[in-house]
Amino acid sequence: MNNIGLYIHVPFCLSKCPYCDFYSVKPEREATDGYKKAVIRNLKRYTQAFSDICFDTVYFGGGTPILLHEEICEILDIAGSHIAENAEITIEANPCITDADKLCSLKRFGVNRVSFGLQSANDNELKTLGRLHNAADGEWAVYLAQKAGIDNISADLMLGIPYQTQKSLDETLKAVISLPVSHISAYMLKIEPNTPFYNQKLVLPDENGYAELYLKTVNMLAENGFEQYEISNFAKENRLCRHNLKYWSCEAYIGIGPAAHSYFGGRRYYVTRDLTSFIKDEIQNEAISDDNVGGFDEWAMLKLRLTSGIDYKTAYEKYGIDRQTFEKKCRLIPKNMYISDENGIRLTPEGFLVSNTVIGILTDI
Ligand code: SF4
Repeated sequence: MNNIGLYIHVPFCLSKCPYCDFYSVKPEREATDGYKKAVIRNLKRYTQAFSDICFDTVYFGGGTPILLHEEICEILDIAGSHIAENAEITIEANPCITDADKLCSLKRFGVNRVSFGLQSANDNELKTLGRLHNAADGEWAVYLAQKAGIDNISADLMLGIPYQTQKSLDETLKAVISLPVSHISAYMLKIEPNTPFYNQKLVLPDENGYAELYLKTVNMLAENGFEQYEISNFAKENRLCRHNLKYWSCEAYIGIGPAAHSYFGGRRYYVTRDLTSFIKDEIQNEAISDDNVGGFDEWAMLKLRLTSGIDYKTAYEKYGIDRQTFEKKCRLIPKNMYISDENGIRLTPEGFLVSNTVIGILTDI
């Protein structure tokens, strides 16, 4: 199996943000302890079944993984000999739960990347999102990580927050750019069914408003050295997220924990969102039946999320689809939404704005 990514879903949060549909529950002692043991049990199954397994990226996502920093140190210790020397090891962190001791012990156990859910630098917007931190907490947390010796720091931002304006976004971007972060993810707020936001009458930007917020973000980040490499992701100093690149490049990764996904051996797997069953060892990775796994549609759809796009040579070698076929499809798309040259095709920020439609047209071959 060799090099592979490892994703561990940590399904605990202190409270539920009203827009979030990720799987998480309250961190009761008994549950966190049972969860840790279940993760270790699953991890050992993989390392015993594939003795040559080597995790070159490890990502603790959630939920709020930093709540379980001691358990995570133990898990990293056990995974130890199967983690590559130069592995990227990321933990997602909520600023108000971050402190110097937690970051220093995580660093000692190999964590070398922190992704902070800052979302905004505007206190009213953070309150609207139900976040437990304010803007000052966010800044403080980033500096704590830097002081702990972790210099690969990412910040998550949200676009389209109720009442967010061009001006407030401008202030958020300026504030975040001034911090020692080398990676920024900027996601559009999506109102998911079964969340409190779904049943509220929220004042949200219209289509044009979203477009302005997104294009402003892309331009301002580019002007400040953050190169866009995916629809929602920007990096400077070449600090692209190696783990997430595996998802978009159809590379193998193992997911452990309730609600985690995996992709290996040419198949996709999913663990049911049920902590109790996970702890009791009643659920395993279930194969997702999908005829298209590893097929052209999936490959092209993921590649077109990246600014590097599709290269014609690979498309032809892997799937027998040539440049002329793509160029015929391009005639159906406005010219400002893509760039096509002798090497391949990629979307522009205007194309990313309507990526579902554009990618649907380009992959309908
Ligand atoms: S902290 Fe993150 S995972 Fe937890 S509820 Fe809020 S948005 Fe969701």
